[in-house]
Amino acid sequence: MRYAAGLGVFALCVSRLCVSQEAGAPAAASAVHVFVVRAGTLIDGRSDRPQQNQDILIRGERIVAVYPAGTRPLPAGTELLDLGAATVLPGLIDCHTHIFLQGEVPAAGGYDVQLLKYPLSYRTARAVVAARRALEQGFTTIRDVETEGAGYGDVGIKQAINEGYIPGPRMFVATRAISTTGGYNLEGYAPEIVVPKGAQLIDGPVEARKAAREQLEHGADWIKVYMTHRSWVDEKGELVSQPTLTVEELRAIVDETHGWHRKVACHAYNGPGLQRALDGGCDSIEHGLELTDAQIQQMVRQGTWYVPTLSVYYYDHDPPDTPSGKRDRKRVALHGVSFGKALRAGVRIAFGTDVGGFVWSDPIAQEFARMVEFGMTPMQAIQAATSRAAELLGASGDLGVVAPGAHADLIAVSGKPLDDVKALESVAFVMKGGSVFRSTPVAATR
Ligand SMILES: [Zn+2]
Repeated sequence: MRYAAGLGVFALCVSRLCVSQEAGAPAAASAVHVFVVRAGTLIDGRSDRPQQNQDILIRGERIVAVYPAGTRPLPAGTELLDLGAATVLPGLIDCHTHIFLQGEVPAAGGYDVQLLKYPLSYRTARAVVAARRALEQGFTTIRDVETEGAGYGDVGIKQAINEGYIPGPRMFVATRAISTTGGYNLEGYAPEIVVPKGAQLIDGPVEARKAAREQLEHGADWIKVYMTHRSWVDEKGELVSQPTLTVEELRAIVDETHGWHRKVACHAYNGPGLQRALDGGCDSIEHGLELTDAQIQQMVRQGTWYVPTLSVYYYDHDPPDTPSGKRDRKRVALHGVSFGKALRAGVRIAFGTDVGGFVWSDPIAQEFARMVEFGMTPMQAIQAATSRAAELLGASGDLGVVAPGAHADLIAVSGKPLDDVKALESVAFVMKGGSVFRSTPVAATR
């Protein structure tokens, strides 16, 4: 069964996925598969140091033991997957994706064309491909933070993945997202024309709570809120962003969502909108381009997560002498500085990219190099995309770690990511829940 034709990749899918494809419907799991993945180097997602020559014993979908290679007899019938030339890591987690967005390339019509001219069936078909792209690149879990006008499409994609109809990562979905009137695209059309919006727009705490209830009822694992919208550079050369929801509106959403034991992710660039996000009790600040020292301290105090998205702001800059071109450059200039300050202050940071804002054919893992550029060690960046991200998702011990009891989500690279984190842009082996999705020959580099 091949899912990755055209990329020079062969997808070796074993167990459940293949069975379900052949039968046309998910089949019950057959006899529990027991096997050992032998890691030349193991970065387990939690420890600060890698370990050499480790065996990872997997039963079905879970890891049952990790121990020095060859120190225990293999149980009868155990299959050995020898990745002795490779570095093995937990499956990666991207906490900020948009599978229903296909880049915002101006020449291809940017954002608007996707809502105005693409049939929903076409958007869904491409979302299926995007989900597969995430998995191919070693991202076995994503938090997909809204569908940009494609309604509850993410809920269906997640279901199809979980039931084995299509390949893709584990998904935490946010469905429609919430902003205010004047607080989200599409805009700039004649007021007489009703255009679709990329988020559910509310005004007032009552509507805010109702929108959260609707989204939670229909399957949102997270609620995504836009706390800032337009941004520009003012006469003093400062980045300004327009705040959207009031603290009261956000509090209604947070209160409702926490009642469901779910969390709220807030898009916020800087300024009053970001402050309202913190005062309103947001669980994660998305982007956070410009954080003041006081805001950083508030994040530490409240335990607020920071999901920076450094790479995406390097794309598609307008000419430098235009207002939008100045804004594009200012965003880049501020973001790395805020990241470094937050890191040094001990803010909890999880890996996010905003992929979908850039095309899915580009490496999602390019973000690692940016995180290192702005102050993280490669190990810190890896942990941000594994055990730390799992903590944000409320899945510690289940995801983002190679340890007994965790899902058997593993990747392998032939390079040495602790020497050059760009090695993570070339993932050679991907396993999700004990099923090998991708396996390309791993060159010996040791
Ligand atoms: Zn986003």
